[in-house]
Amino acid sequence: MTVLLDLILPPRCPSCGTEGTSLCATCIRPLERRLDEPPGLPIGLPADLPDGLAQLEWCAAFTGPVRAALLALKYDGDRRVAEPLGRAAGRRWSRAGVGGEVVVPVPIHTERLRDRGYDQATLLARVAASELGLPTVPALQRAVATTAQYHLGRAGRAANVGHAFECRREHARAVRGRHVLLLDDIVTTGSTLSACARALYAGGARCVSAVTVARER
Ligand SMILES: [Zn+2]
Repeated sequence: MTVLLDLILPPRCPSCGTEGTSLCATCIRPLERRLDEPPGLPIGLPADLPDGLAQLEWCAAFTGPVRAALLALKYDGDRRVAEPLGRAAGRRWSRAGVGGEVVVPVPIHTERLRDRGYDQATLLARVAASELGLPTVPALQRAVATTAQYHLGRAGRAANVGHAFECRREHARAVRGRHVLLLDDIVTTGSTLSACARALYAGGARCVSAVTVARER
């Protein structure tokens, strides 16, 4: 049904409603503003760099059109908006990122995948990876069902996701000895990215970095 609607309905900017584009020329600007900023600026997280990451980059604050676009992707079934968002993440990493050999999306819960029919981080990762000329490998999976992050405070989130991920055995070879670039839609505390990094190191990754579309304080 969603696929059919995608074909019938014209794309619409999820922020301002302009028809004919999945994120209009005006609303895409916040995603491009930081493109040429130097890498590794302090990001205001509890620790400047989440544990286990060699580098973390992001495109824009989680406000305004970027927020509207990510919410449309996550909750309104607007898969087309993954294209401009993923491209922005790829471009930010190509300007500011140091290396990376394989792109790995942060996996969502399988129940949520079933509800929604797609995984937004995987959609974003595919676009970003093609921008970077790298392969995408779904090397991680959720180890246990964690309580929705939304309902937890910061400390609760960190404890909750500590061991929430594991490397999928069938993709072990793709990460072993490699510099993995994690991709997620939003970074908040960085605890999810840290937990993913831990699982990737356990799977033999040489180095783990991350790029996200947005940063939420
Ligand atoms: Zn717009």
